[in-house]
Amino acid sequence: MNYDLSPRESAWRDEVRAFIAEHVDESLSRETREVGNEGRGPRARRFLDALRDRGWWGLSWPKEYGGLEKTAVEQWIFIDEIETAGAPMLPLTATSVAPTIMRIGSEDQKQEWLPSINQAEIDFALGYSEPEAGTDLASLRTRAELDGDEWIVSGQKMWNTMAHMATHNWIAVRTEPDAPKHKGISMMIVPMDAPGVSVQPIWVWPGLRTNALFLDNVRVPRSYLIGERGMGFYYAAMALNFERLSIGSIGMARRHFRALVNEVKTRVVDGRPLREDPWVRERLARLQVEIDAARMLGLETAVALDRGGVPAAESSMAKIHVSELTQRIADTGCEILGLNGQTHAQEPGALAEGRMQWLYRIAPMLAFGGGTNEVQRDIIGFMGYGLPRK
Ligand SMILES: Cc1cc2nc3c(=O)[nH]c(=O)nc-3n(C[C@H](O)[C@H](O)[C@H](O)COP(=O)(O)OP(=O)(O)OC[C@H]3O[C@@H](n4cnc5c(N)ncnc54)[C@H](O)[C@@H]3O)c2cc1C
Repeated sequence: MNYDLSPRESAWRDEVRAFIAEHVDESLSRETREVGNEGRGPRARRFLDALRDRGWWGLSWPKEYGGLEKTAVEQWIFIDEIETAGAPMLPLTATSVAPTIMRIGSEDQKQEWLPSINQAEIDFALGYSEPEAGTDLASLRTRAELDGDEWIVSGQKMWNTMAHMATHNWIAVRTEPDAPKHKGISMMIVPMDAPGVSVQPIWVWPGLRTNALFLDNVRVPRSYLIGERGMGFYYAAMALNFERLSIGSIGMARRHFRALVNEVKTRVVDGRPLREDPWVRERLARLQVEIDAARMLGLETAVALDRGGVPAAESSMAKIHVSELTQRIADTGCEILGLNGQTHAQEPGALAEGRMQWLYRIAPMLAFGGGTNEVQRDIIGFMGYGLPRK
């Protein structure tokens, strides 16, 4: 495999870098760390609007829907550059929900939803998980029953992360209670302002907000069931597949690793420059090798996608490697910088702008977001090596 970019890909990378140079500065990346997901800050909103105005919300979309139809490698370049710069990533509404609607929705549904997504007028929370259905999504219990021209939806979703900001929810519901559990699920859109929808905050330890979503006899139009009835389990898997390229991206980890290296270059601890310590140098060198390996895994996944393959094992490898490497970078950074490296950016004496403690708190989420690492290891076993499925 050739890891060099083609002239066309290099030109695209340069275009993305020029855009970043114009629109991103350190205050944007600081805002992203400070605001978390409680709300997009003003800088993030301006940046996402600029991406939309440039037509880059539809980076992966087919041309017939106003997209740019970029290859998987070009999308990977975009994600890598944006994350390395510390800018906010495109919302899953544009990169996961919209491409799924394009493939499964009726013409009327595409006309109803895609233009307003493209114009950033609506934004979705993703409602797959429930208290008793995470990895085993097919066990979900939220029900929708048809009553004339409306669905009546009742149940509870868990970890519904964007619910407090979204205009709509993209939820998996059971519509065929008597069908085998994988075949009784459908995908549905629920407006957040519909009567009977309520949201309760759940704060998780990195300081981020997620939510429980309660649906109490919520009425939605019949046409809000997207695609075919009973196919929702497979549609949810399709929507999650669209997240693959960004889940295994090394950009964010690389950015914080660079900040750590910069700190090491200048910091003096107990009268001795950190850069002269052999242990510190060795640890940084090891991490750099692992970061370069992550880049190759990401690129291999993108190339396989462009060749028409289904690189499930490769993308699982990238996801495990990047998520666990991010934890190692945070651990190493906290160890090298000592107690002042573990403090919040606003504490006096904080090193590396408090990035290492932030990364330390955020990194564990990468290990289960988009499917837990235990499950990814299972996928590598049966998709990569043909071992029996557990
Ligand atoms: C902060 C946060 C934000 C989230 N945001 C969203 C969101 O926006 N939308 C959404 O729908 N969900 C969201 N989730 C849910 C997330 O996707 C699930 O937590 C995840 O899928 C795991 O499900 P679970 O928590 O029910 O754990 P379980 O599925 O109960 O797993 C528990 C443990 O058992 C292991 N395990 C389970 N099954 C297997 C198996 N077959 N083989 C090997 N090991 C297994 C798992 O790896 C894990 O270690 C979020 C979760 C959190 C914590």
